[in-house]
Amino acid sequence: MPHVTNDGAGPAPSPDRPLRVAVIGAGPAGIYAADALTRQDAVPVAVDLVDRLPTPFGLVRHGIAPDHPKMRAIRDTLYRSLDHPLVRFVGNVDVGRDLSLEELRRHVDAVIYTYGASVDRRLGIDGENLPGSLAATDLVAWYCGHPDADRERVEDAVRHARSVVVVGVGNVALDVARVLARAPEELDPTEMPQHVLDALAASPVEEITVLGRRGPAQAAFTTQELRELGELAGATVLVDPKDLELEPDAEERAAADRVVARNLAAMRDWIDHVPEPGRPTLTLRFFSRPARLIGSDRVEAVEIERTAVDGDGRAVGTGELEVLPADLVIRSVGYRGVSLPGLPVDERTGTVPNEGGRALRDGAPSPGEYVAGWIKRGPTGVVGTNKHDARETVAHLLADATDGTLRVGGPVDDLVQTLVARGAEPVLLDDWRAIDAAEVALGATRGRARTTLHEWDSLLAAVRAAAASAG
Ligand SMILES: Cc1cc2nc3c(=O)[nH]c(=O)nc-3n(C[C@H](O)[C@H](O)[C@H](O)COP(=O)(O)OP(=O)(O)OC[C@H]3O[C@@H](n4cnc5c(N)ncnc54)[C@H](O)[C@@H]3O)c2cc1C
Repeated sequence: MPHVTNDGAGPAPSPDRPLRVAVIGAGPAGIYAADALTRQDAVPVAVDLVDRLPTPFGLVRHGIAPDHPKMRAIRDTLYRSLDHPLVRFVGNVDVGRDLSLEELRRHVDAVIYTYGASVDRRLGIDGENLPGSLAATDLVAWYCGHPDADRERVEDAVRHARSVVVVGVGNVALDVARVLARAPEELDPTEMPQHVLDALAASPVEEITVLGRRGPAQAAFTTQELRELGELAGATVLVDPKDLELEPDAEERAAADRVVARNLAAMRDWIDHVPEPGRPTLTLRFFSRPARLIGSDRVEAVEIERTAVDGDGRAVGTGELEVLPADLVIRSVGYRGVSLPGLPVDERTGTVPNEGGRALRDGAPSPGEYVAGWIKRGPTGVVGTNKHDARETVAHLLADATDGTLRVGGPVDDLVQTLVARGAEPVLLDDWRAIDAAEVALGATRGRARTTLHEWDSLLAAVRAAAASAG
């Protein structure tokens, strides 16, 4: 692929021939990048914000738990950046499949990759592929109504889920444990598709165990997420007091880190909790790592090895094994980014190699290629973290445009026209508004603010219906 379509020979960007930038991925990082590009007037720009889905917002729509409506409302703020005259949302276009990077580069002067990092990390243990073993990504995509969710596999797993083991102690692990533990009436007002609400209401969950391979002082969850477990209407949270007897290092850590101290205080409040007959339990269990998943046709149990934390804060196995019954195992041990065809990622970190957002190829900055968000720095931080991250990238892009490293090329074809000419069906912002209106209307039929449309067909049908009625 000729990466250097921009050879530095063209003129500086002007209002007549602005710097054309394609941002690939309309999640928070992509939207914040578009926002940073349009919030300056030193370099005239025109931004195409491309997403493979017909809807913007990335993991704000398909990751943040639907029982956290206030957190999901951040999309209203993100929407304001999309609705800018210099930004064009181009949804339903999968870069790499519908359009190669090489083709895309012929339409723009610069590309910012913001396509996220939402493939699950594996445990690398026996039994991981058995039915009944799901990645958190699978469950989250399903309950958020992602159109690519594997309904059959997830619903089969949820239907059998009497004893659930969630591996991992980050916020995503707590999200999935909490959603599974919620009483139906707690989930009923959410945006979850109806079939998800029905499947969760029918699921036979009796016990959920969340496994941390290190101690409570090393858990990655935040206090707010943790405390919520104690407020569940339909489940009792349990913690083994022995897991909270800390070694001196952990005590020091708690003294130095307020989040750790608060987390421990929250968990200590629960040590007197006892299971109540007929009420599901949600147990936090530390110093335990899965050694293998056991089962012939589907998961039946998890073999767990007791661990200890060494002087460097690492979990080391003690050889002490135990078998925990489990019909559903959810692996929540992190996310990683994968490459787009024609764009290498560092296999170890799962990110596009970069320096402050300037994408590197063979160790050197690649002209006109930039990166922001999870695919730049890995799957860490909250939505707002992507704002600073995208600003850093855009600052470098604008510096390159200002000092002449990045110049505009010759006349370029319009991306949307090219896509339409080859039979693609790009979804623009007005089209997405039709999807938005259809979701609000669907929600209203059951007294909800909105219900997520979860199928490609229904998403695109909403767009087509609006186009047909507009004539
Ligand atoms: C389960 C879960 C829950 C979370 N909950 C919270 C929370 O409560 N609060 C909080 O602050 N943060 C939360 N986060 C973190 C937050 O969602 C991320 O920080 C943020 O979404 C990362 O932004 P991003 O733009 O880099 O990636 P993403 O949000 O993943 O966006 C990437 C976009 O790229 C698109 N894309 C992918 N491939 C292509 C392609 N080939 N062509 C075109 N487009 C493509 C995707 O469709 C997607 O829209 C959560 C994350 C997860 C996984």
